[in-house]
Amino acid sequence: MNPHRESDTDPRLPSLDLARVRADFPILAEPVHGKRLAYLDNAATTQKPEAVLKALDNYYRHGNANVHRAVHELSQRATTAYEAARDRIARHFNAARDEIVFTRGTTEAINLVARSFLEPRLKAGDEILLTMMEHHSNIVPWQLATERTGARIVVAPISDAGELLIDEWRQRLNVRTRLVAFAHVSNALGTLNPVTELAREARVRGIPVLADGAQAVAHLAVDVKALGVDFYACSAHKVYGPTGFGVLYAKREHLEAMPPWQGGGDMIRTVAFEGSTWNDVPYKFEAGTPPIAGAVGFAAALDYLDGLGLDRIHRHEEGVLAYATEALSRIPGLRLIGTARNKSGILSFVMDSAHPQDIGSILDMEGVAVRSGHHCAMPLMQRYGVSATARASLAVYNGTDDIDQLVSALHKVRALFA
Ligand code: PMP
Repeated sequence: MNPHRESDTDPRLPSLDLARVRADFPILAEPVHGKRLAYLDNAATTQKPEAVLKALDNYYRHGNANVHRAVHELSQRATTAYEAARDRIARHFNAARDEIVFTRGTTEAINLVARSFLEPRLKAGDEILLTMMEHHSNIVPWQLATERTGARIVVAPISDAGELLIDEWRQRLNVRTRLVAFAHVSNALGTLNPVTELAREARVRGIPVLADGAQAVAHLAVDVKALGVDFYACSAHKVYGPTGFGVLYAKREHLEAMPPWQGGGDMIRTVAFEGSTWNDVPYKFEAGTPPIAGAVGFAAALDYLDGLGLDRIHRHEEGVLAYATEALSRIPGLRLIGTARNKSGILSFVMDSAHPQDIGSILDMEGVAVRSGHHCAMPLMQRYGVSATARASLAVYNGTDDIDQLVSALHKVRALFA
């Protein structure tokens, strides 16, 4: 059967057979308040395809045991699946397997870098360059490191459209800068930052670079070598994979030089009360029983993503974003926040008539799931003079019908609060 029959394709969105993609996600058939579900909260977390659910089920049914610990058959199976997942994940990012550290998610990955890489190198007066559009996960870990060392955070501004002001960012790089960190894609604005260009600028000055890829990996091909970053962090649950699992890519030379940050089983080579020695990288940073099912599930999610093809996913989401931007712009009293030229599928907005929280509640009654709040980006909200926005965020299974449902629910909001 041809997987891309014309008849199943929305003519406005020719790159994907949307009906087939949707059939892969059982939860999309779940009615909400008796309405069809339009799930538009993908920046918070994505839904999981059958292939990921099956991989998790299969692992627990047929392969569950602890890894690296026993000779019995199930332990062998679990270890094989777990280490095969590392190879699969490393391949996706064009990294070596020992440059891939498994974490609980983006947040833990950034905390690891802050604690183990940066903090030992910081002294009073040193600087960390961030941007105005960062998620709290890419602010607070650095702040904790500065509080313990007397270093300080420097923030590069953005334009009203939500684009990083690159000249201003460059001007803030100096001999005191110990690290630059920025989102690959902003979770609150959708802005796609020019990672390769920023990394090049930092690299010529000998400054290490961390990119927060939480909002990028589900939408773009990510090649850490081509991007030229030292560190790249992401969460599986935003990429159609399970919660509780994420990845830190780090250049091997950094991992080798970094001390462990958590102690426990698996991260050691030898232990004595007088002192211990450490396992090889990346295990040195993976204390305790690891998230085995998480790794297996993420590898399955990446297989799913590649099966669809990131190019096609990207083109499809671009089409829905263009349709949604146009449709929301026509709603009187609605203001989009984040109108960068290079944007991923995120639509943050406020309305004259209603608070974002009320917008979220009314949309929910219409089966439309969006997020309302500060999106863990309080400094960014302040930059725009708002305390919160409503945010619709796209995934591969969204289509123009979801946007039509959103728009008609927003007209109900206007009618109620007029
Ligand atoms: N950075 C960005 C840009 C995000 O969108 C998120 C999740 N909202 C995070 C970091 C944190 O991810 P997690 O909660 O999965 O650790």
